Amino acid sequence: MEVKGCQLCGTLAHATYACTHCKREVCQACFKPEMGVCSECYRRLKNETSLSTFPLKLFLLGFVLIISGMIFLIASSALYGDAQTTAGIIIFIGPIPIILGTGPYSVFAILLATILTVIGIVFFLLLRK
Ligand SMILES: [Zn+2]
Ligand SMILES: [Zn+2]
Repeated sequence: MEVKGCQLCGTLAHATYACTHCKREVCQACFKPEMGVCSECYRRLKNETSLSTFPLKLFLLGFVLIISGMIFLIASSALYGDAQTTAGIIIFIGPIPIILGTGPYSVFAILLATILTVIGIVFFLLLRK
């Protein structure tokens, strides 16, 4: 078998791995098997995903949850014919939710907020992958 040099670090290796991104042949130490790319592309791809897509998704997720929580609270107060001070607020700071509730149905509101939070965390974990 032909001995090739790693195109990243120059180490001579019998087995080289082809990066699916830049097509360079690299040694085992320079290859990230979970991504199929070399360490250089891996670093670049990781920076791209963490800078562009992730915070936007998180922001949208928090926004959707807050809106759906508000819609539910308005609907529930209409249902009970009670426009009093029942209110629940869910604020997401990253994956950490802050739940606030006031009024006679606040327990109900907080319960819903908790359910939404669990859904939120599940989505958060799914989006992280
Ligand atoms: Zn190498
Ligand atoms: Zn590469």
